[in-house]
Order: sequence, then C-alpha cells, then structure tokens
Amino acid sequence: EGGVCLEFEVSRFGDGDRLILVRDVTDRIRLEEMRQDFVANVSHELRTPLTVIKGHIQMAIDNPTMGPDHLQRSLAQVDAQTARMENLLTDLLWLSRIESMEHERKTEWVAVDKLLETLVAELRPGFQDREIELEIRTGYAVMGDVKQLHSAVSNLIINALKYSPAESPVIIRGFIEEQGYVIEVQDNGPGIEAGHLPRLTERFYRVDKSRSQATGGTGLGLAIVKHVANAHNAELRIQSEVGVGSVFALVFQPELVRGDSTETLQ
Ligand code: ADP
Repeated sequence: EGGVCLEFEVSRFGDGDRLILVRDVTDRIRLEEMRQDFVANVSHELRTPLTVIKGHIQMAIDNPTMGPDHLQRSLAQVDAQTARMENLLTDLLWLSRIESMEHERKTEWVAVDKLLETLVAELRPGFQDREIELEIRTGYAVMGDVKQLHSAVSNLIINALKYSPAESPVIIRGFIEEQGYVIEVQDNGPGIEAGHLPRLTERFYRVDKSRSQATGGTGLGLAIVKHVANAHNAELRIQSEVGVGSVFALVFQPELVRGDSTETLQ
C-alpha cells in the first residue's frame, strides 16, 4: 500500500562482472490489483441477484401447489433482479466502450439546450410526480460526443432524482462562468459526507449500499460520468452538504465551447 515495487534482473558476464537491471513495476502491479478487484466486484454484483432468482425458482419447484398470488410475487422479484443484472451489464459494456473509444471519439458541436431538453423529456415519464426544473443559458454548444454527454448528464439527473425526497425539486442548469460552460444538477437530497467524495467516482463505490441497491443503482453511474468528463477535458465538480443537498457539475473548458449568443467566454 503506497509503496514501490521493484523487479531485479541480474546477469553475469565476463569474469564475475554483474549487470543488475532494476525496473519499477509499481504501476503494473497496481493495475493488476485493480483488475482483480474489479473482477471480484463484478462477480459479487452479479451473484447477489442470481442468488435471489435461484431462491425463488427453487421455491416454486419445491412447492408445486403454490398459490397464484405467491407465484406472482415471486415472479415480480425474479423480474426485478433480472432487470438489475441487465442494467449492470449495460453499464459495464458502456463503460468499457467509453474507455476503448478514447481515440476514436466522435466529436461535434453539441447544442447544450437541445441536449438538456431532450434529456428532461426522456426522463419525465419515469418520474411523473417529480419537479424537474431547467434553467439554461441558451445558444451554447460544447465540443464532444453526444452519446457520452447524454449518458453522463442522464446519470447525474437520475441520481439527483433517486437520492432526494419525492417532494423536492431537481434543478438542472446550464450557464457560463470564467472557467467555461457549466452543466450542473442540484438536489435537496441527503448530501454526502466530505470523506466519501474522493472515492465517489470509483466503480461500485456506494455511500449507503442497501439504499443504493434498493433504488436499482449499479454503482457505475459516477464512474461513467468521470470517464466522460475526462474524455472531454472537463472537470467533474461535486459540492455536497449533509442535510442540505448536492450539486454535481461538469465544467467544459472555454476552447471547447461555442456561443451563438453575444455573450463571449473569457
Ligand atoms: P449508484 O448506482 O449506486 O447510484 P453511482 O456511481 O451513480 O452509483 O453513485 C455512487 C454513490 O454516490 C451512490 O451509491 C450514492 O451513495 C452516492 N450518490 C450519488 N449521487 C448522489 C446524490 N445526488 N445525492 C446523494 N448521494 C449520491
């Protein structure tokens, strides 16, 4: 932990002379550890719903006279757990695609107002009772991959909706500031303790595991957001206060922002 790993290679030549090669293999070993952790995490995340599904199937097999109500409840559970596995696989594949697309990312001017309006229109039917406010400084576009941007902002909005109480609004803003164009999502949810913030974008990192799983999360949402931010040279800014709420923002650098309006970026 935190140390350095060295590999030594000793070759002898001539009359007893030795050549010693020392290699710093810290990065290689860290990478291997991360890969092992990742495989263990994925296996665990898939095994949990699978165990529940198996349990319900076994119960139905063992109880051929099981009532239709009971069977329906079991099937609903199987359905929910299958959906969870499906979400996990979709997010995993998407994350790996974003990583591998690093050099062949499609870049174009993405109109922010259109992107945010589309997103809200798509999410509204699933969150009918929720107040979703949109405040956009119109006429701006950011250079990037529209699919990736769509998925990053969508993850931020869904989290804000998932983790905040039903009666509180979620506000999405698009505006300019000195550092560039900002897309931010604000909620009045529980907030996140400062100690968790540095690890929040790690794959499968969750503040409250049971709550997050109950809401159908995969634990990959913020990892995806962070990857998309990096691919766009954007900053992911997280401000959160326990008991008050959170603001997640993507800040795009001025040179990757175009404004049709008269207001210019510094
Ligand atoms: P998940 O699928 O669990 O939501 P994410 O990677 O999207 O995974 O988020 C990681 C964790 O960060 C969540 O499990 C939750 O604990 C916390 N989190 C994310 N967004 C919010 C938010 N808006 N308010 C409070 N906590 C949040």
